[in-house]
Amino acid sequence: MKIFSKHLCHIFKRINHHSYFTKKIALTFDDGHKYAPLILEKLEQHGEKATFFLCGSYMEENISIYQKIFKSGHEIENHSYNHPNMLELSEPEILDELSKTQELIEQVTGDSNRLKFFRFPYGRRNKEITLLIENHGYIPVKWTIDSRDWTGINAEDIYNNILKSNNLSNGAIILMHTSGTHTAEALDLIIPALKQKGYKLMLISDLYQSIRRYKKNLKKIPANPTNSG
Ligand SMILES: [Zn+2]
Repeated sequence: MKIFSKHLCHIFKRINHHSYFTKKIALTFDDGHKYAPLILEKLEQHGEKATFFLCGSYMEENISIYQKIFKSGHEIENHSYNHPNMLELSEPEILDELSKTQELIEQVTGDSNRLKFFRFPYGRRNKEITLLIENHGYIPVKWTIDSRDWTGINAEDIYNNILKSNNLSNGAIILMHTSGTHTAEALDLIIPALKQKGYKLMLISDLYQSIRRYKKNLKKIPANPTNSG
């Protein structure tokens, strides 16, 4: 676990141009509700899978939506219970936010042994809090491209924020929201364009496993192979 103690995005930034990550990218949707069923519909239409970082408060209100999302092959991960600024909470409050949502996730997935991925609300965190949650078995996941769909921008602008981003590269993690008014509509533009560029959409857990395999293989490669003989 120790070698993965940094944010996934940091790890991706360091190695995301390596050929090992050829054209792998992840779509992520935060928060919960509102347009979640519509986003699910669009993903189905395009035959793609994505990762949802959900707040427990939303999950509790209508758990059947999230059961449907999970049964359709998408990933359900932790985004706290009430979406607080974690920097303003005490340690027990932070852990309570995470564990309440994790219980709901386990209820939906029926699996208590799965890896626990967590995204900080607003991305707000510090070293201490990051270490605290890692010590409780959570793997923090940020993003590398913010679609800014939460600002209410139209589908074309969401598309441009992703497709024209300097961070659009192998291993990128794209941030979108279930509350985005034009997010579902934008998927009709984004998914075909990413596919056309040769990207394969993957779940966060798949990208994580790719890193594990990559790091494992890296250890087998001599530091300077050209001088080894
Ligand atoms: Zn959020």
